Amino acid sequence: MSKPATIAIDGFAGSGKSTAAARLAEALDYLYFDTGVMYRAVTWAILEQGIDPGDAEQVSRVAEALTIDVVANGPDDGRQFTVLADGQDVTWAIREPAVEANVSLVSSYPRVRIVLTDQQRRIAAAGPVVMAGRDVGTVVLPQADLKIFLVASAEERAHRRCKQLKEQHKPIDYDRILTAIIERDKKDRENPVSPTIPAEDAVILNTDNLNVDEVVGELQTLVKQLRSGLKVA
Ligand code: C5P
Repeated sequence: MSKPATIAIDGFAGSGKSTAAARLAEALDYLYFDTGVMYRAVTWAILEQGIDPGDAEQVSRVAEALTIDVVANGPDDGRQFTVLADGQDVTWAIREPAVEANVSLVSSYPRVRIVLTDQQRRIAAAGPVVMAGRDVGTVVLPQADLKIFLVASAEERAHRRCKQLKEQHKPIDYDRILTAIIERDKKDRENPVSPTIPAEDAVILNTDNLNVDEVVGELQTLVKQLRSGLKVA
């Protein structure tokens, strides 16, 4: 293989996939796309409209009507990219606890998944991409040239989240963060439509004792191996 055109990076919350995937995309000069922001944007939109997250019909309708755009430009406030929901900048709003608490339920509705998966496939068809999420290797792009599934213990992920919050001068409650991570893992793993599980041909990378540079280094090694014709999974 000359160059893998589609790279799928999946993993649970806080596994470091977004940062690592973004850095890998930058190094390869590929588009980076984080599928999680789409589920978050739908969740933000239904909460904004006062819709009960348990109402599958209403939530699905919102997902089907919502225009989600992810663009590179935006204010210089620490953002990786700008997320627009029907033209409104929701980059930070989709990271709020209310969205975090409801996004797994919203993501469990088949119609929500169908409409977002379809949009993700169209984005991937447009050019070389590193796509990050939960089901990119299994459902969105099962033909991806390289599939990676990042894992890390819940405790390690909670520590990483605390570090991020500290950097942003936000309040830290380790126990609450750990509990939220464990709960979200459970819901994502048990998602009836698209459970977060590694594809059979994914490379599983444990990031517990690796910093971001080391994770990106491992990913680049996998890309090089693939380019030189080695089987990586
Ligand atoms: O990756 P991130 O934490 O931003 O994803 C937010 C939520 O969106 C996940 O907890 C999961 O419920 C959902 N999601 C999903 N499928 C994806 C990406 C995210 O169900 N491909």
